[in-house]
Amino acid sequence: MILDTSKYIGKCECGRVHELRTKLVVCEYGALNSFDRYMEECGLTGFRTVIYDTNTYNLPSMVHVKADQEIVLEAQGLHSEKGLIEDMMKKLRRKPDFIVAVGAGTLMDFGRYSAYQLGIPFVAVPTLVSSDGFTANICSIVIDGHKKSIPMIAPSAVICDMNIIEGAPHFLTVSGMQDILSKYISIADWKIAHLVSGEYFCPMVCSMAQEALDTMVKCAYEMRDGKPVEFEAMAYAQMLSGLTMQILNHSRAASGAEHLIAHLVEMKPKGFENAHGMHGECVGVGTVICAEEYHRLAEMERVEVKPFKPLDEAWVRDVFGDLAEGIFKECENDVLSSFDEHSIQEHWQEIREIIAGIPSAEELTELFKAIGAKYCLEDLGVDESLKGFALDASMAIRNRLTLNRMRRLMVL
Ligand SMILES: [Zn+2]
Ligand SMILES: [Zn+2]
Repeated sequence: MILDTSKYIGKCECGRVHELRTKLVVCEYGALNSFDRYMEECGLTGFRTVIYDTNTYNLPSMVHVKADQEIVLEAQGLHSEKGLIEDMMKKLRRKPDFIVAVGAGTLMDFGRYSAYQLGIPFVAVPTLVSSDGFTANICSIVIDGHKKSIPMIAPSAVICDMNIIEGAPHFLTVSGMQDILSKYISIADWKIAHLVSGEYFCPMVCSMAQEALDTMVKCAYEMRDGKPVEFEAMAYAQMLSGLTMQILNHSRAASGAEHLIAHLVEMKPKGFENAHGMHGECVGVGTVICAEEYHRLAEMERVEVKPFKPLDEAWVRDVFGDLAEGIFKECENDVLSSFDEHSIQEHWQEIREIIAGIPSAEELTELFKAIGAKYCLEDLGVDESLKGFALDASMAIRNRLTLNRMRRLMVL
């Protein structure tokens, strides 16, 4: 599959003019054999520096593309940290005309960050697709001990060679699937927020996210039925989802209430001290929890609303400890105070219809079990009784309008 991204750019029905740095996305078997041709098509010429780590360099299925300089980083202990990336940059023989990064998330951050610093393009060669970050323009790196998501340049091209990607361990493939299946919730959250508060909404970007979801749903059910996994389609769905983030400059279409539950695993508030799991696994569990709660809400034929109240300070301090100040700052201008709560009441039937498009928690659980995916809090090392707490705490960590957050305006 070759994705020419030019169809997504330009003046849009949403009123904005959309731009994309990523010109070409290739998801094909043997794609690396035609690497030079793809680079030419994208106008990427001149001194080419290719970076690997010792794992990706030595993969049996790896095709080492032509390079003017190759840098192979020691995989052991490699993580996305500013200092480590700057060390890597000292190894550059000269300023390259572009950088090619071969690997997964960490290597991508090395490519993205250094290319940004040097003001040159970069090309992503993913070796696995366990999340949708490859085509995004956000980079999560550690700066002075703190993990920060900072805007960064997106790749000019993404070349996925399925000979390499299909060799990834099963749990990573499944984790990548769950990251996309979460769009059941994130798309619903975006539509509901638009209805209720008039938040910006782009039908084209939403349909891209929906296409990514539909593609991945098909792949997941094929996997459940024991059919061969369509890696090309899976990678395509990941790339498409990443492009929605690049177009919007944020993750609205790709990340809703379910992703916030996953962020609790990273933040480790009260009760989550021993939480662990891959990004997609945590997101998958978040998807099941949100599906259950959203369907429970949709059972109500009418909803009573109450006026906005800021988060309870003592509760935030108790739950988040040292992280409490960050939460207060994030929720300073709480999005729940930006619209009339009666709007939820007025749009309740439409909201119920949107929720009806989300599979039930039972359906999702059954699918996740069948494909060997994680599906409950216990799978993440968290007590099952903390489901309600997970919903309450996760909505506090980001000032994004989700149906889960709107529960604070409902009489339940
Ligand atoms: Zn648009
Ligand atoms: Zn994600």
